[in-house]
Amino acid sequence: MQRTFSILKPDTVRKGQTGAVLAMMEAAGFRIAAIKKLSISKQQAAGFYAVHAQRSFFDSLTTFMSSGPIFVMVLEKENAIADLRKLMGATNPANAEEGTIRKKFAGSIEENAVHGSDAEETAAFEIGYFFAGYELA
Ligand code: GDP
Repeated sequence: MQRTFSILKPDTVRKGQTGAVLAMMEAAGFRIAAIKKLSISKQQAAGFYAVHAQRSFFDSLTTFMSSGPIFVMVLEKENAIADLRKLMGATNPANAEEGTIRKKFAGSIEENAVHGSDAEETAAFEIGYFFAGYELA
């Protein structure tokens, strides 16, 4: 079993697509180990996306991520990290394959519905950023 970290971004929650995206995740074999709804500040979004601090879209991305409620979650399955990336589809929905979350729900390269960790180290950092140990016991 492997754990990964995911976010349903503000666009997903705003458009009422939370349940539909979660259903796709469960249908793909992910178990939701922990989930919570919260709103984050621009500063908290900046801490989460610190690796992108030098990118041109950083200010816009952190404004978007703090623009409304999100769901943060820990997902479990074998090969969870790679499999979630596959299920999400390409960052830019214009390039996302049929049957992926972003193909179905993302509106733009920025408002792209969902986040998923890209490696084991990243998953550990991201899970620890939003969840305490007791929430995953
Ligand atoms: P991901 O791993 O597929 O989420 O993509 P990245 O780690 O490269 O980027 C993080 C997030 O920043 C993406 O999911 C988008 O929300 C946003 N993003 C990435 N590239 C761009 C871009 O070129 N323009 C804008 N406005 N946002 C971007």
